[in-house]
Amino acid sequence: MRVNGKRNLTVSRSTLSRWRAVSAPIAMAAFLCLQGSSSNAAESTREASEFSVPSGSPDEYMQAAAAFARELDPEAEISFRDSQSGSLSVSRVEGARIQCIVRVSPDVGEALKPLGRFLNGRLERNAQAMWALAHEIGHCKLRDAFLRRTDGHVADASVFPFLAQEAAADAYGVLSVERRLGEKVPVRQAVIIARMLASSMYHDEAHATGHYVSDALGLCQQNRNDADAVQCAVSTAYYTVGSLSNDEKGSPIAVDSPPQLLFESGVQKISHELHLYDSIAQYKAHFAGADLSRFAFNEVSRKGDSRYITAETGQQTDMTYRLADFYGFKTGELTTDGARNVIVLRIDGADELDWLLTLGAVVRTEDGASLRKGDQRH
Ligand SMILES: [Zn+2]
Repeated sequence: MRVNGKRNLTVSRSTLSRWRAVSAPIAMAAFLCLQGSSSNAAESTREASEFSVPSGSPDEYMQAAAAFARELDPEAEISFRDSQSGSLSVSRVEGARIQCIVRVSPDVGEALKPLGRFLNGRLERNAQAMWALAHEIGHCKLRDAFLRRTDGHVADASVFPFLAQEAAADAYGVLSVERRLGEKVPVRQAVIIARMLASSMYHDEAHATGHYVSDALGLCQQNRNDADAVQCAVSTAYYTVGSLSNDEKGSPIAVDSPPQLLFESGVQKISHELHLYDSIAQYKAHFAGADLSRFAFNEVSRKGDSRYITAETGQQTDMTYRLADFYGFKTGELTTDGARNVIVLRIDGADELDWLLTLGAVVRTEDGASLRKGDQRH
């Protein structure tokens, strides 16, 4: 069942692959909170609709692209979302691994917005769709590479600026599709040019990856397997950081220098900023993102280990539905004591709650406690 008014809600998403990197450590404190008694209010409230994550049916291009993405990451959870154009991925830590969650429009034309218009004529639709999903998987792989570093330490790839993360995902996507379709298919040319055109047309600096990807691919000589593509993504992220910082300093490294120099400068810069955790458990306990830091949620009711929450009403519209839709929380209507129907998110269990908190949100419970993760970004 669809929530009333769903169609009227549009999340403003003008960019392909706005990334929400999150992780979902299990917060023991939050888990303990769940043991609290269920209040009387819970008895008088009931679900007035089916609670679900919105979903749509993928067209043939998106089906094929999703199958390709699952080859790159067999565990990836890919869902198709009617309500938004573009695509995004989030990833959360489950146990010692990354669960990659990709949300994408079921319609290839929508899914590729706004890059599609510049990819058209340069790249076949099927290759476009494959690249778009491989790009999303690339975000997860970059995070995975930092969470499971070869030296045994744990770090978070969100230390890289957004642009560098985008460039890395682009590079991973390019190499992955090239491995499948062969280098004769002009994936890299199409992506690089489309990025340049789109970022200029839409004044979108955050996705102006074109020339970084173009240069950084020079660092990626081998593309035998997925590990090579991941390595390339990491190199591209470092290259982009080095390049950005070189620009800021007035280009002490000549722009036509070998990419290795800018890569090394990026490695140096990040090494000063990267926080290393000893283990996944330590990382889980401390890391909190900033995605939802502007939002507080109020618990309306609690039943068992499910919490029903609404976004605290700000100056404008109720964001509850939009946030649920964007981040993939289950949403529906709840009838409360006053026989009022309210749109709520349903947070099931400690993992989901922790994911919400890891996104930076605060949840105010019925008993007046504020669940949050502290400011622990070292
Ligand atoms: Zn992206």
